[in-house]
Amino acid sequence: MIIVISGPSGVGKGTVVQKLMEKNPCFVRSISCTTRKPREGEKNGRDYHFIDEDKFFELVQKNALAEFAFVHGCHYGTPLKNLTKEKTDVILQIDVQGAKKIKNRFPEALLIFLLPPNMEILTNRLTGRGTETEEEQKRRLKRAKEEIEERTFYDYIVVNDNIKRVVSKIEKIIEKEHEAPIPHAKPTKKTQQEANPTHSTPVRQHRHKLNTYPNT
Ligand code: ADP
Ligand code: 5GP
Repeated sequence: MIIVISGPSGVGKGTVVQKLMEKNPCFVRSISCTTRKPREGEKNGRDYHFIDEDKFFELVQKNALAEFAFVHGCHYGTPLKNLTKEKTDVILQIDVQGAKKIKNRFPEALLIFLLPPNMEILTNRLTGRGTETEEEQKRRLKRAKEEIEERTFYDYIVVNDNIKRVVSKIEKIIEKEHEAPIPHAKPTKKTQQEANPTHSTPVRQHRHKLNTYPNT
Protein backbone atom coordinates (compact mmCIF):
# COMPACT_ATOMS: atom_id res chain seq x y z
CA MET A 1 0.00 0.00 0.00
CA ILE A 2 1.14 3.54 -0.71
CA ILE A 3 1.07 5.59 2.50
CA VAL A 4 1.42 9.36 2.13
CA ILE A 5 2.36 11.47 5.13
CA SER A 6 2.08 15.25 4.75
CA GLY A 7 1.96 18.24 7.03
CA PRO A 8 3.50 21.67 7.41
CA SER A 9 7.24 22.06 7.68
CA GLY A 10 8.38 21.39 11.25
CA VAL A 11 5.26 19.45 12.30
CA GLY A 12 7.37 16.32 12.76
CA LYS A 13 6.92 14.28 9.56
CA GLY A 14 10.55 13.19 9.45
CA THR A 15 10.58 12.29 13.13
CA VAL A 16 7.35 10.30 12.90
CA VAL A 17 8.38 8.48 9.71
CA GLN A 18 11.76 7.60 11.21
CA LYS A 19 10.08 6.08 14.28
CA LEU A 20 7.60 4.19 12.09
CA MET A 21 10.49 2.78 10.06
CA GLU A 22 12.45 1.76 13.17
CA LYS A 23 9.44 -0.02 14.66
CA ASN A 24 8.31 -1.63 11.41
CA PRO A 25 11.17 -3.01 9.33
CA CYS A 26 8.63 -4.20 6.76
CA PHE A 27 7.97 -0.59 5.70
CA VAL A 28 9.94 1.02 2.90
CA ARG A 29 10.49 4.77 2.72
CA SER A 30 10.31 6.34 -0.70
CA ILE A 31 13.42 8.47 -1.24
CA SER A 32 12.52 11.57 -3.23
CA CYS A 33 14.59 13.60 -5.65
CA THR A 34 15.11 17.24 -4.88
CA THR A 35 16.96 20.26 -6.17
CA ARG A 36 17.24 21.52 -2.57
CA LYS A 37 20.77 21.62 -1.16
CA PRO A 38 21.47 19.01 1.55
CA ARG A 39 21.21 20.18 5.16
CA GLU A 40 24.02 19.44 7.55
CA GLY A 41 23.92 15.72 8.34
CA GLU A 42 21.76 14.80 5.34
CA LYS A 43 23.15 12.11 3.07
CA ASN A 44 22.62 11.73 -0.66
CA GLY A 45 20.68 8.54 -1.39
CA ARG A 46 19.54 8.17 2.23
CA ASP A 47 17.56 11.35 2.90
CA TYR A 48 17.01 12.47 -0.69
CA HIS A 49 18.56 12.07 -4.09
CA PHE A 50 20.06 15.55 -4.30
CA ILE A 51 20.14 16.51 -7.98
CA ASP A 52 20.42 19.67 -10.07
CA GLU A 53 17.59 21.20 -12.12
CA ASP A 54 18.81 19.72 -15.42
CA LYS A 55 18.73 16.20 -14.00
CA PHE A 56 15.35 16.87 -12.36
CA PHE A 57 13.75 17.96 -15.64
CA GLU A 58 15.37 15.06 -17.45
CA LEU A 59 13.48 12.76 -15.04
CA VAL A 60 10.26 14.72 -15.62
CA GLN A 61 10.67 14.38 -19.40
CA LYS A 62 11.29 10.66 -19.11
CA ASN A 63 8.11 10.29 -17.03
CA ALA A 64 10.29 8.82 -14.31
CA LEU A 65 8.53 10.70 -11.51
CA ALA A 66 5.17 9.57 -10.13
CA GLU A 67 4.55 13.16 -9.05
CA PHE A 68 6.58 16.32 -8.63
CA ALA A 69 6.00 19.75 -7.16
CA PHE A 70 7.68 23.06 -6.50
CA VAL A 71 7.82 23.44 -2.72
CA HIS A 72 9.45 26.26 -0.71
CA GLY A 73 11.41 27.36 -3.79
CA CYS A 74 12.81 23.94 -4.79
CA HIS A 75 11.68 21.01 -6.90
CA TYR A 76 10.77 17.69 -5.28
CA GLY A 77 9.58 14.48 -6.89
CA THR A 78 8.82 10.83 -6.16
CA PRO A 79 10.62 8.36 -8.44
CA LEU A 80 7.99 6.17 -10.06
CA LYS A 81 10.16 3.10 -9.55
CA ASN A 82 9.81 3.57 -5.77
CA LEU A 83 6.11 2.78 -6.13
CA THR A 84 6.08 0.12 -8.79
CA LYS A 85 8.95 -2.07 -7.59
CA GLU A 86 7.91 -2.44 -3.99
CA LYS A 87 5.17 -4.85 -3.03
CA THR A 88 5.20 -3.84 0.60
CA ASP A 89 4.04 -0.65 2.34
CA VAL A 90 5.84 2.37 0.94
CA ILE A 91 5.84 5.59 2.93
CA LEU A 92 5.94 8.88 1.02
CA GLN A 93 6.74 12.00 3.01
CA ILE A 94 5.53 14.57 0.49
CA ASP A 95 3.67 17.88 0.29
CA VAL A 96 -0.04 18.47 -0.32
CA GLN A 97 0.33 19.10 -4.08
CA GLY A 98 2.18 15.78 -4.45
CA ALA A 99 -0.34 13.96 -2.25
CA LYS A 100 -3.20 15.03 -4.54
CA LYS A 101 -1.34 13.83 -7.62
CA ILE A 102 -0.60 10.48 -5.96
CA LYS A 103 -4.27 10.06 -5.00
CA ASN A 104 -5.35 10.78 -8.58
CA ARG A 105 -2.87 8.31 -9.97
CA PHE A 106 -3.18 5.68 -7.21
CA PRO A 107 -6.69 6.03 -5.73
CA GLU A 108 -5.99 3.31 -3.14
CA ALA A 109 -3.20 5.33 -1.57
CA LEU A 110 -3.71 6.12 2.10
CA LEU A 111 -3.30 9.84 2.87
CA ILE A 112 -2.44 10.97 6.40
CA PHE A 113 -2.07 14.62 7.38
CA LEU A 114 -0.06 15.55 10.47
CA LEU A 115 -1.22 18.65 12.31
CA PRO A 116 0.67 20.54 15.00
CA PRO A 117 -1.14 20.93 18.36
CA ASN A 118 -1.16 24.68 17.59
CA MET A 119 0.72 27.28 15.53
CA GLU A 120 2.95 28.34 18.41
CA ILE A 121 4.23 24.80 18.85
CA LEU A 122 4.77 24.51 15.09
CA THR A 123 6.81 27.73 15.11
CA ASN A 124 8.88 26.51 18.06
CA ARG A 125 9.56 23.17 16.43
CA LEU A 126 10.60 24.74 13.15
CA THR A 127 12.81 27.39 14.71
CA GLY A 128 14.11 24.91 17.29
CA ARG A 129 15.26 22.55 14.55
CA GLY A 130 17.48 25.37 13.38
CA THR A 131 18.09 24.03 9.88
CA GLU A 132 16.59 27.00 8.01
CA THR A 133 17.45 30.68 7.89
CA GLU A 134 14.99 33.08 9.51
CA GLU A 135 13.73 34.09 6.06
CA GLU A 136 13.19 30.47 5.07
CA GLN A 137 11.41 29.75 8.37
CA LYS A 138 9.03 32.65 7.65
CA ARG A 139 8.34 31.34 4.15
CA ARG A 140 7.60 27.86 5.53
CA LEU A 141 5.31 29.16 8.29
CA LYS A 142 3.35 31.25 5.80
CA ARG A 143 2.94 28.20 3.58
CA ALA A 144 1.98 26.11 6.65
CA LYS A 145 -1.35 27.94 6.95
CA GLU A 146 -2.19 27.18 3.30
CA GLU A 147 -1.16 23.54 3.71
CA ILE A 148 -3.31 23.13 6.83
CA GLU A 149 -6.31 24.43 4.83
CA GLU A 150 -5.84 21.42 2.53
CA ARG A 151 -6.11 18.85 5.32
CA THR A 152 -9.69 17.87 4.54
CA PHE A 153 -8.47 16.25 1.33
CA TYR A 154 -6.74 13.58 3.43
CA ASP A 155 -8.14 10.26 4.62
CA TYR A 156 -6.93 10.80 8.18
CA ILE A 157 -5.84 13.82 10.19
CA VAL A 158 -3.60 13.15 13.18
CA VAL A 159 -2.29 15.72 15.66
CA ASN A 160 1.41 15.27 16.40
CA ASP A 161 1.39 16.06 20.08
CA ASN A 162 3.24 13.05 21.43
CA ILE A 163 5.49 11.01 19.16
CA LYS A 164 4.78 7.63 20.75
CA ARG A 165 1.04 8.18 20.62
CA VAL A 166 1.11 9.39 17.02
CA VAL A 167 3.23 6.47 15.82
CA SER A 168 0.88 4.03 17.51
CA LYS A 169 -2.14 5.80 16.02
CA ILE A 170 -0.69 5.62 12.51
CA GLU A 171 0.12 1.93 12.99
CA LYS A 172 -3.50 1.34 13.99
CA ILE A 173 -4.72 3.22 10.91
CA ILE A 174 -2.51 1.09 8.65
CA GLU A 175 -3.70 -2.11 10.32
CA LYS A 176 -7.30 -1.01 9.94
CA GLU A 177 -6.80 -0.27 6.25
CA HIS A 178 -5.14 -3.64 5.69
CA GLU A 179 -7.59 -5.44 7.94
CA ALA A 180 -4.50 -7.26 9.23
CA PRO A 181 -1.71 -6.70 11.73
CA ILE A 182 1.57 -5.21 10.52
CA PRO A 183 4.07 -8.08 10.15
CA HIS A 184 7.03 -7.59 12.49
CA ALA A 185 9.79 -9.11 10.40
CA LYS A 186 11.14 -7.63 7.20
CA PRO A 187 9.55 -9.89 4.56
CA THR A 188 11.52 -11.18 1.61
CA LYS A 189 9.95 -10.20 -1.70
CA LYS A 190 9.12 -13.84 -2.38
CA THR A 191 7.46 -14.74 0.90
CA GLN A 192 5.79 -11.47 1.68
CA GLN A 193 2.44 -12.18 0.08
CA GLU A 194 2.35 -15.75 1.39
CA ALA A 195 3.22 -14.72 4.95
CA ASN A 196 0.48 -12.15 5.18
CA PRO A 197 -1.76 -12.30 2.17
CA THR A 198 -4.06 -9.50 3.18
CA HIS A 199 -1.37 -7.07 4.24
CA SER A 200 -0.65 -5.69 0.80
CA THR A 201 -4.13 -6.04 -0.58
CA PRO A 202 -5.62 -2.68 -1.43
CA VAL A 203 -8.91 -2.08 0.36
CA ARG A 204 -11.75 -0.11 -1.10
CA GLN A 205 -13.74 1.08 1.83
CA HIS A 206 -15.02 4.29 3.24
CA ARG A 207 -12.32 5.90 5.33
CA HIS A 208 -13.43 7.68 8.45
CA LYS A 209 -11.62 10.87 9.16
CA LEU A 210 -9.88 11.02 12.54
CA ASN A 211 -10.53 14.69 12.79
CA THR A 212 -8.83 15.23 16.11
CA TYR A 213 -7.72 18.81 15.56
CA PRO A 214 -9.24 21.37 17.89
CA ASN A 215 -12.05 23.37 16.27
CA THR A 216 -12.68 20.89 13.45
P1 ADP B 1 9.23 17.95 9.43
O1 ADP B 1 9.88 16.71 8.85
O2 ADP B 1 7.74 17.87 9.43
O3 ADP B 1 9.71 19.22 8.81
P2 ADP B 1 10.79 17.28 11.82
O4 ADP B 1 10.55 15.82 11.93
O5 ADP B 1 12.13 17.74 11.31
O6 ADP B 1 9.63 18.01 10.99
O7 ADP B 1 10.52 17.90 13.27
C1 ADP B 1 10.75 19.27 13.55
C2 ADP B 1 11.26 19.39 14.99
O8 ADP B 1 10.20 19.06 15.88
C3 ADP B 1 12.42 18.47 15.31
O9 ADP B 1 13.35 19.15 16.11
C4 ADP B 1 11.77 17.31 16.08
O10 ADP B 1 12.64 16.74 16.99
C5 ADP B 1 10.60 18.02 16.78
N1 ADP B 1 9.42 17.16 17.00
C6 ADP B 1 8.81 16.37 16.11
N2 ADP B 1 7.74 15.76 16.66
C7 ADP B 1 7.67 16.20 17.95
C8 ADP B 1 6.78 15.94 19.05
N3 ADP B 1 5.73 15.12 18.93
N4 ADP B 1 7.00 16.57 20.22
C9 ADP B 1 8.05 17.43 20.34
N5 ADP B 1 8.93 17.70 19.36
C10 ADP B 1 8.74 17.10 18.17
P1 5GP C 1 12.18 19.55 3.27
O1 5GP C 1 12.92 20.57 2.44
O2 5GP C 1 11.83 20.09 4.64
O3 5GP C 1 12.88 18.22 3.33
O4 5GP C 1 10.81 19.27 2.52
C1 5GP C 1 9.99 20.33 2.15
C2 5GP C 1 8.63 19.81 1.73
O5 5GP C 1 8.76 19.05 0.53
C3 5GP C 1 7.97 18.90 2.75
O6 5GP C 1 6.59 19.24 2.80
C4 5GP C 1 8.14 17.54 2.17
O7 5GP C 1 7.16 16.64 2.59
C5 5GP C 1 8.02 17.85 0.69
N1 5GP C 1 8.57 16.80 -0.16
C6 5GP C 1 9.63 16.00 0.04
N2 5GP C 1 9.78 15.13 -0.96
C7 5GP C 1 8.78 15.37 -1.83
C8 5GP C 1 8.37 14.76 -3.06
O8 5GP C 1 8.96 13.83 -3.60
N3 5GP C 1 7.29 15.30 -3.67
C9 5GP C 1 6.58 16.34 -3.14
N4 5GP C 1 5.50 16.76 -3.80
N5 5GP C 1 6.92 16.92 -1.97
C10 5GP C 1 8.00 16.43 -1.33
